[in-house]
Amino acid sequence: MFADIIIDISHEQLDRTFQYNIPDNLRDIVKIGSQVRIPFGRGNKLITGYVIDITNKANYPVDKIKDIESCLEDRVGIASDMINLAYWIKKNFASTMNQALKTVIPVKDKVGPKEKKSVVLKVTKEEAVILNETYKKKNSKAKVRLIEALIEEPVLEMEIIRNKLNISTSTINLLEKDNVIEVTTKKYYRNPVKDNDAFKKNKAIVLNKEQEEAANTIKKDVEEQRYNTYLLHGVTGSGKTEVYLDVIKEVIDEGKQAIVLIPEIALTFQTVLRFYHRFGSKVSILNSKMSKGERYDQFLRSMKGEISVIIGPRSALFTPFPNLGLIVIDEEHEGAYKSDKTPRYHARPVAIHIAKNKQIPVILGSATPSIESYELAKRGEYKLITLNNRAGNATLPKIYVEDMRRELQMGNRSVFSKRLQSLIVDRLEKKQQIMLFLNKRGVAGFISCRSCGHVMKCPHCDISLTAHNNGKLMCHYCGYEQPNVTICPECGSKYIAGFRAGTQALESLINKMYPTAKVLRMDMDTTKNKGGHEKILEQFANHEADILVGTQMIVKGHDFPDVTLVGIVAADMSLYAGDYRAPEVTFQLLTQSAGRAGRGNKKGEVVIQTYTPEHYSIETAANQDYIGFYEQEIAYRKLLGYPPIINMLKITVSSASEEALDEASNLLKDRASNLDNSIVLGPSKANIYKINDIFSKVIYIRNKEYDKLTLIYENLDAYVVGNPKFRNVSVNYDFNA
Ligand code: ADP
Ligand code: ZN
Ligand code: ZN
Repeated sequence: MFADIIIDISHEQLDRTFQYNIPDNLRDIVKIGSQVRIPFGRGNKLITGYVIDITNKANYPVDKIKDIESCLEDRVGIASDMINLAYWIKKNFASTMNQALKTVIPVKDKVGPKEKKSVVLKVTKEEAVILNETYKKKNSKAKVRLIEALIEEPVLEMEIIRNKLNISTSTINLLEKDNVIEVTTKKYYRNPVKDNDAFKKNKAIVLNKEQEEAANTIKKDVEEQRYNTYLLHGVTGSGKTEVYLDVIKEVIDEGKQAIVLIPEIALTFQTVLRFYHRFGSKVSILNSKMSKGERYDQFLRSMKGEISVIIGPRSALFTPFPNLGLIVIDEEHEGAYKSDKTPRYHARPVAIHIAKNKQIPVILGSATPSIESYELAKRGEYKLITLNNRAGNATLPKIYVEDMRRELQMGNRSVFSKRLQSLIVDRLEKKQQIMLFLNKRGVAGFISCRSCGHVMKCPHCDISLTAHNNGKLMCHYCGYEQPNVTICPECGSKYIAGFRAGTQALESLINKMYPTAKVLRMDMDTTKNKGGHEKILEQFANHEADILVGTQMIVKGHDFPDVTLVGIVAADMSLYAGDYRAPEVTFQLLTQSAGRAGRGNKKGEVVIQTYTPEHYSIETAANQDYIGFYEQEIAYRKLLGYPPIINMLKITVSSASEEALDEASNLLKDRASNLDNSIVLGPSKANIYKINDIFSKVIYIRNKEYDKLTLIYENLDAYVVGNPKFRNVSVNYDFNA
């Protein structure tokens, strides 16, 4: 028997299968999906590989085929449907097979189980009482303490005995030797969600009419074996989660399991709690802060059917459930659903691909669907379900747009408009809560000279340095830092300073303007530590502060019923980010942050401050008009030929040598131009031309059909592999970036 093996080295030149012989002693051990050690190359160095097929047909003369050295039984194997999925990912998102395999097995190593030790009384209570009399006489205080406790409770956890009763190991050993007690060990799975009394309150909510219709549409389709992708477009606070819960309940009742994707930042205790209230310990989570052991145990628990719902970021898609019945992608428009490393896959098409194979439904939910999804829903590829109203008694907030240019003309130099100032005072008086949103970190933005226009930049990256209030200028790409400057290095002028306010500056300003208000700040700096994000949200939910200032992080996650005012301090900041999605991202941020206001019984108000109130992203967000936004945006994309109208393959070519870079990128452009009448743009310098002394250029290839682009990718990839002109150059592919 022979095994086709993908080796665990991600290099284009090695991106194919290698055939090995399965020796007799490994016949029963090596399976499709196994990880094995194999001698590789001329030196027969031992390396790891994945067995992706087993055949009895040799592709080479048998005496040329080497033996597998051993099978790595402590590594997680790959199920055969996952191998097929990896092939599909490799083809559709441009990666090596090794990278694709790594993607579909998010847990690599098996981790030994956790153990819980307990102490059991081995004698009868009566005997124990008599024994204890003798220990008392001998003044063995520790023994007496332990036996007394065991007379009350014949089985005690070791943790309690150690920490509460203060009993040492030697005491336990002595009693065990005397056959009075026994130490037992029980293996158990790590559970990232700690049991909590709150889980026991089953807070089932009666669905309103809109929600019920939404849930019924999906459930009826499933009953009648129609498996669709649904786009659940519901305004903020319309109760989309309740619809998911209702459909998931049906899935669980059928003995099947559900995967729920939530952007990691929104995966808070409060969110998980809603699932726990409904399904108890059948629910588990995955997140990037969990240990290897915790992740591995969730893998096992799902494989064994111990849990029925997994909630997590995009990698949760690869949870090995025995009988998957539903995939939900909440906040489907979120950028975090696209991987930022190769393969740059997007969770949405992967979920839909998995669902098609398994014949199950997918629910995509959002208040601000991505333009792609809404377009596909309009074309009839997805089934559109709309929730127009907020659930319960909540109503949509009132939104004001404040033109900051006029504020300046009227002599208001503050970062807060007059209206925002008076509403802040009003809410502080009423003891209601306020959220202020700014999409920028640090104390100030870039540093520039008002005399000559010089901007302080990183010497390694073509990007402006950011001032932090520790007196340093920092590069957010490579981490370079230097002291701040007081004199312009170009012209010697002393008028060199930062412009825009960041969250820290905003916090200090509020402290000055409203000295009695309690302020919390949430940004990259205050949430660096594990649980930092959660803690701030928890404090704000408990009304320990009046005002929460933050970056886009505050937009998601918690439901704060006492927030009745949301201020968006500089709505335009994300508008000129230099990519075609900027208007979409701005609309989504504005709508989602406005949606934080008035989620309880009290009506909310929102102030959007802007220098361009006439921009359609801002106008339609102010009117909470998704359809209006979609229509303008899709018209713009049609005009300029952007996704989802046209598909795009972005090729990034990088090298430390500008000369090699120029040559290689021109070669690729020429080759691409001759393929399948595509439109080829570039090569042009990347947004940031130089990072860590590596130069990059980008080429965009546009084609109406995605499948044509995957063929073009395969053609270019084959051209690059083994081509000496590309020896010092790396080429990366990204679809619809
Ligand atoms: P979305 O995900 O659409 O923003 P959520 O599912 O978080 O909305 O619901 C918003 C709030 O409305 C939550 O506090 C939720 O408990 C409440 N809610 C949802 N559905 C109902 C309902 N049918 N009746 C009363 N309250 C509801
Ligand atoms: Zn200057
Ligand atoms: Zn840098």
